[in-house]
Amino acid sequence: MNQKAAALFVGHGSPTNVIEENVYSQTWEKIGKEISPLPKAIVFFSAHWETNGTRITAMENPRTIYDFYGFPSEMYELKYPAKGDPQLALKIKELLKDKNASLDEEWGLDHGAWSILKKMFPEANIPVIQISLDRRLNLQQHYALGKMLSPLRNEGILFLGSGDIVHNLREVVWKDVALEWAKEFDELVIQKIKAKDHFSLMDLSLLGEHAKRAIPTLDHWIPLLYILAMQDESDSVHFFNENITLGAISMTSFVLR
Ligand code: ZN
Repeated sequence: MNQKAAALFVGHGSPTNVIEENVYSQTWEKIGKEISPLPKAIVFFSAHWETNGTRITAMENPRTIYDFYGFPSEMYELKYPAKGDPQLALKIKELLKDKNASLDEEWGLDHGAWSILKKMFPEANIPVIQISLDRRLNLQQHYALGKMLSPLRNEGILFLGSGDIVHNLREVVWKDVALEWAKEFDELVIQKIKAKDHFSLMDLSLLGEHAKRAIPTLDHWIPLLYILAMQDESDSVHFFNENITLGAISMTSFVLR
């Protein structure tokens, strides 16, 4: 019998968390160590891969992608040499039949994925697949795709979504501080998740006066919906890194298990 695998949403913040020993990255390390038994594979939804149609990485050896500019040179030398899982990719494509999903041989692991994986599962000994965010879908449709994939948790597949509950780069201040509106919005979303009010989280007009400011674009929000769609009756929600940093970036994360 397989044990049901956890599902996690992680607020990734700055790419430099991967080279820093800070409270956020240290918590990623700690959470990774708590995951037992190791999942058979990890299926990853990153804010940093948007496509037309849903793409599923299907290569044997996904490359490490340096999709950021102007960061310290050591960042461009880091590698996350996890294997892919072409068979699982095919299975996912079949589960999403009629939903415009296709296999991808070109992407790999972008920084939304590997900057977290490197801390959480440093041995890179678990195969990883990335699934893109189809920019043509609305929030309800993304959530519905997540639901279609959720039975894979029972086969020991861990789902990981990486984005930010608050992500406003225009209002970033380069300090570990929290703007008041960002904090308020983050707290509202935490309450909605605790209340299992997924319906409101799929409709920004139901998320109060700060929603547009917290979520100026949907890319960092959508991974959250994929992970919430994985939740079943028996899951409890455990939050970690509940904090706003850089003024307007949320690090708030949670694990369902
Ligand atoms: Zn990001």
